[in-house]
Amino acid sequence: VLATQPPCVLLNDGNKMPMIALGTGRGTAKETDTLDDVRNAVFWAIEAGYRHIDTAAVYGDEEQVGQGIADAIAKGIVTRDQLFITTKLWNDKHARDQVVPALKESLSRLGLEYVDLFLIHFPIATKEDGSPDNIDYLDTWKGMEEAKQLGLTTSIGVSNFNISQIDRLLANSNVPPAVNEFEVNPTLTQEPLVYHCMSHNIAVMAYSPFGFLVSRNRPDAPPPKYDDPIIGAIAAKYGKSPGQVVLRFAIERGLVPIPKSTNQKRIAENINVFDFELSAEEIAAIASFNKNVRVIEIDGWKDYPNYPF
Ligand code: NDP
Repeated sequence: VLATQPPCVLLNDGNKMPMIALGTGRGTAKETDTLDDVRNAVFWAIEAGYRHIDTAAVYGDEEQVGQGIADAIAKGIVTRDQLFITTKLWNDKHARDQVVPALKESLSRLGLEYVDLFLIHFPIATKEDGSPDNIDYLDTWKGMEEAKQLGLTTSIGVSNFNISQIDRLLANSNVPPAVNEFEVNPTLTQEPLVYHCMSHNIAVMAYSPFGFLVSRNRPDAPPPKYDDPIIGAIAAKYGKSPGQVVLRFAIERGLVPIPKSTNQKRIAENINVFDFELSAEEIAAIASFNKNVRVIEIDGWKDYPNYPF
């Protein structure tokens, strides 16, 4: 258990977002987790000091996330207002008048009155059968602004938006996005998109923060792997694990990493990253692994309107 709470990022709407979130999306690595593992993971995370949980309608686990939160509140570990809960709107609910009802359904599954952050999961709109739909994300955003106005979410933001999509949204909205959540790790450092978001006061949440450090069942995976000597030497110097070094790399850049784990020991390990700092040389050494290779590919949507990658 941490002696102090993790630090927060101040969002452009005045809300404060804790600098590390537990990921609850499963299925990008070797995962065989059950939904009950998510309930336990959320409870263990809060017990270990996490105050920020990342979920999404499409993960199918909002109910279990809500149960883990309820368990922690029932045990007196936290109160609701000390937690920061993020969920996301799926691609088939992009019509303006679908947004508020979709968030209400998420809230009902979570057992919450409000979330702290609601994100458009992708700029791509689909019909329920997964085929492309041509709904402009600017219309979706109007629904997001309505959700915020109703108090169903404190902050609103986006995920997987590229630079020109961010610019178009900023130029055509009343409320700017508080957050853009996208993939960042040593092999996908995303300097231009990170810089662009930060210079417009949009906080960045980094998904798949371990990149290929952990098994992705990809024989072509680029370094660094878990046994990488450069990462290993930095880890040994600070008495930390390779995973902790890579999470610290994100935090040093001002990003909010979202490590996923359902293992109690690794959940605790992943938040224990606020008692050491990397040097500028070490940060540069880790950044030099960049290959602009993605863990999360969405090639199936390549021909859909607003494909962001
Ligand atoms: P991560 O980089 O978090 O990697 C997760 C994998 O790493 C799991 O197999 C986990 O296994 C393992 N792991 C966790 N901690 C350690 C550790 N300390 N040492 C070694 N292995 C470890 O990738 P994800 O792709 O899962 O992304 C994280 C989260 O980001 C998701 O859960 C989701 O919330 C979000 N996300 C959002 C997306 C979006 O479009 N907005 C897309 C993808 C992800 P184990 O559980 O056994 O510990």
